[in-house]
Amino acid sequence: MSLTSVPGVNIVGAGLAGSLLAILLAKRGFKVSVYERRRDPRIANADRGRSINMALAARGIRGLELAGMLGRVMPLAIPMRGRMVHEHDGSAELQMYGVRPEEVIYSISRADLNRTLIEAAAELPNVKFSFGHLCLGLAHEKNVLELRDEVTGHIHHTAAQPSIATDGAGSAVRDSMVAREASMVREEPLDHDYKELTIPARDGRHVIEPNALHIWPRGGFMLIALPNPDGTFTATLFLARSGDNSFEQLRDAGAVEAFFAREFPSARALIPDLTRDFFANPQGSLGTVYTRGWHLDGDLLLLGDAAHAIVPFHGQGMNCAFEDCAELLRLMDGHDRWDGLFEAFEHERRPNTDAIAQMALENYVEMRAAVLDPEYQKKKQAAEALARQDPHFIPRYAAVMFHPEIPYSAAIGGR
Ligand SMILES: Cc1cc2nc3c(=O)[nH]c(=O)nc-3n(C[C@H](O)[C@H](O)[C@H](O)COP(=O)(O)OP(=O)(O)OC[C@H]3O[C@@H](n4cnc5c(N)ncnc54)[C@H](O)[C@@H]3O)c2cc1C
Repeated sequence: MSLTSVPGVNIVGAGLAGSLLAILLAKRGFKVSVYERRRDPRIANADRGRSINMALAARGIRGLELAGMLGRVMPLAIPMRGRMVHEHDGSAELQMYGVRPEEVIYSISRADLNRTLIEAAAELPNVKFSFGHLCLGLAHEKNVLELRDEVTGHIHHTAAQPSIATDGAGSAVRDSMVAREASMVREEPLDHDYKELTIPARDGRHVIEPNALHIWPRGGFMLIALPNPDGTFTATLFLARSGDNSFEQLRDAGAVEAFFAREFPSARALIPDLTRDFFANPQGSLGTVYTRGWHLDGDLLLLGDAAHAIVPFHGQGMNCAFEDCAELLRLMDGHDRWDGLFEAFEHERRPNTDAIAQMALENYVEMRAAVLDPEYQKKKQAAEALARQDPHFIPRYAAVMFHPEIPYSAAIGGR
């Protein structure tokens, strides 16, 4: 099917990638129908305990810029110049992310960003959102999407025409492609989970340095905190599911209090509602999803987490998904058929998404342990000194976070 002869494009999932992609495709002239299982976030509030904030970096910014969204999104974002590493004795040190003033990353609320993208997409005359519509996958033997209206329970079908599935790490569309043997998937769960907590503001102001990503690294586990514009921080505890120092051991308020008093005394003082938050908020799981076969003919394509979910320790899942959107648009210039476009997209993106999946896993060890190691700090300082002298030398972290012109598959070779 030729790119321009289609009646429209479906998007399954109005999360971060789906809502950005809707804007990009609509601005390119396509009629876009978006199906999202959740209620309309412009009306419903974000679920508490799931309103995590995200690190936005250059690859994500590039995707937003392409959609003309920087003016609306950047006022919601707080620059973070480095990692504030909080040691056990209460001392804290800022380790800068970059060697140049513009080398910063940004903290942004997932809910605010998603809502802003949906608002912008909905303003375009050729985008139609259907909220409360759960995609059950592909119907029967045909390349037809099966959808359930979550209010009425009514099931209906829509031709793929084509469709792009941005329905996240647990993608129902991917499951049905696997059932058709069009895709193969390998899911590697991490044995560490996460839990969100809140550091409240004092008199409307941040109680610790606002322009930093705070880390309390403890070797096998860690607590992090990212600033919000209202003076609060969203903190996230990453901890093993079972064994020593694990979520399994934190079954009651006494155990949680004792654990925080022992491991994170300086952070404990900042979280007055520790046990309330701890037991009210869900314990989230993490993992990497490797998929081969991201497309089905010219009818269906997996994009974002649906194709390649990664662990969050490089702060790149969303950035990578936004880069996916930008790359798909770029590849459209060289293709006139959807099947060729989708094939080229997987061919081009998979080596890069495999690379960031590996770097994200490696960065967990860096964040929770290596940042405390004097040898690591010496190496980091030496690399930074070299980068200051020689602009051609770009350390791996900087390549991933600040240099979207360097593909992940090339960045992984750096140090
Ligand atoms: C704890 C944590 C911290 C993170 N921190 C960062 C970070 O700092 N920086 C970063 O870049 N990335 C981060 N990420 C990763 C980031 O959240 C994801 O990579 C990003 O959300 C992927 O976007 P997506 O649109 O592919 O999927 P999602 O944002 O998950 O969107 C999927 C959408 O599809 C909808 N949906 C799902 N199933 C269906 C269905 N069957 N039918 C219809 N709709 C459906 C969902 O409701 C949702 O709206 C983090 C992830 C976690 C878990």
